[in-house]
Amino acid sequence: MYYSLFDVFSIGIGPSSSHTVGPMRAAKKFSDELILQNKISKVHKVTVTLYGSLALTGVGHGTLNACVYGLAGFEADTIDLTLNPLEKIKTEKKLFLAGQKEIPFDFDNDIILEKTTFLKEHSNGMKFSAFDKNNAVLKEETFFSIGGGTIKKQDEIKKEISQKEIFVPFPFDTCDELIALTKKHNMTIDQIVMKNEEALRSFHEIREGLGKIHKIMDESIEGGIHHKGELPGGLNIQRRAPRIYKRLKENFIQNNADPLMVIDWINLWAFAVSEENACGGKIVTAPTMGSAGVIPSVLRYYERFAALKSPFQKEIGIGIFLLTASAICSLYRTNASISGAEVGCQGEVGVACSMAAAGLTAAMGGSPEQIENAAEIAMEHNLGLTCDPIAGLVQIPCIERNAMGATKAVNAARLALRGDGEHLVSLDNVIKTMYETGKHLNKKYKETSLGGLATNVLTC
Ligand code: SF4
Repeated sequence: MYYSLFDVFSIGIGPSSSHTVGPMRAAKKFSDELILQNKISKVHKVTVTLYGSLALTGVGHGTLNACVYGLAGFEADTIDLTLNPLEKIKTEKKLFLAGQKEIPFDFDNDIILEKTTFLKEHSNGMKFSAFDKNNAVLKEETFFSIGGGTIKKQDEIKKEISQKEIFVPFPFDTCDELIALTKKHNMTIDQIVMKNEEALRSFHEIREGLGKIHKIMDESIEGGIHHKGELPGGLNIQRRAPRIYKRLKENFIQNNADPLMVIDWINLWAFAVSEENACGGKIVTAPTMGSAGVIPSVLRYYERFAALKSPFQKEIGIGIFLLTASAICSLYRTNASISGAEVGCQGEVGVACSMAAAGLTAAMGGSPEQIENAAEIAMEHNLGLTCDPIAGLVQIPCIERNAMGATKAVNAARLALRGDGEHLVSLDNVIKTMYETGKHLNKKYKETSLGGLATNVLTC
């Protein structure tokens, strides 16, 4: 199954692709269908029921707000949060459904949290119900947010329609197939992805889209560096990126550089994006929101510290990085999962680390085998990584974990580039192992905040 670059890197609002972007898309789809089915004028009331992980961590992850935004017709990549659209809905208890019909909406009662019910298809389930003035059901739909902002309806997930088949000239399901394609056609991984993308959209659209992804990643770094204050949610955590930046600048001015300072910069950039994400800012899923700090950080490391030693011009290297990283994500989405609720954090920060390692290796001129080696090393040392966010907020351990994922990705790329591409463990085997490990993880460690740090750290 081929997942497009633009499925992998989509733009949305934080703090979670599965718990914020996915539910927002599902709610928007539901309200759009009310229009398409000519039911909108009859709607008198709408309720949202969140199940399992969405119910348990939805308050901290912004799921409730996201559902309401979607019902009101907002889209994740275009919503203007500075207008604070929720304020009016919460104070006036009225919702402008699909931007077309005003209905009463009580934020506290019309969103139901079924914390002990896990739908069998996936732990991120949600149901939207629309009622007429006699309280009869006009429309009811259950969706699942399966990771990276992707949603499925109940019938789609039951039939295991994982994604609409899309035709691309160089399809691949496994890394072995991908490497074989590079050999057969004498192409690099990024060239294969580019050819596949060109089958889906024009060259101009791809270039523009890549530019936009890079721009939003950059803006989220800059925003995180300069925005001060406390993260929302009640843990009383101050943003750390502005302080790290100030100290790094002071060290620079005093010519007080130490040889490992590059690690501080990588940490800074990962913190900056992750803190923007925690505050509900505009972010690129890479491959999820919770793990969105890793790739921008490693990409900026490439731009600032590594590009001079790369065989490519910087702009070309950035494209190679992102195209290669998206191919690696496609393998994880096809053969495993990028959902913390399904496989723990190995599917989020673990996959981001693997993608970033591959992207950096490619941008530094690594062979397909070295790229596979880097992606494999990066995931191998994230196997078993649990998801246990304190208070259901994408803050602890998530923000620091992004920094650790970014530095690990750089190390994995360096290890692979020092070798000749020969390695015993294949990426396909590591992906299979990650998925099996995730399936065996207790649900306490899969984005439920029922175990791990979430229960061992007192928050009040
Ligand atoms: S622990 Fe990892 S998977 Fe869980 S919310 Fe944080 S970043 Fe996402």
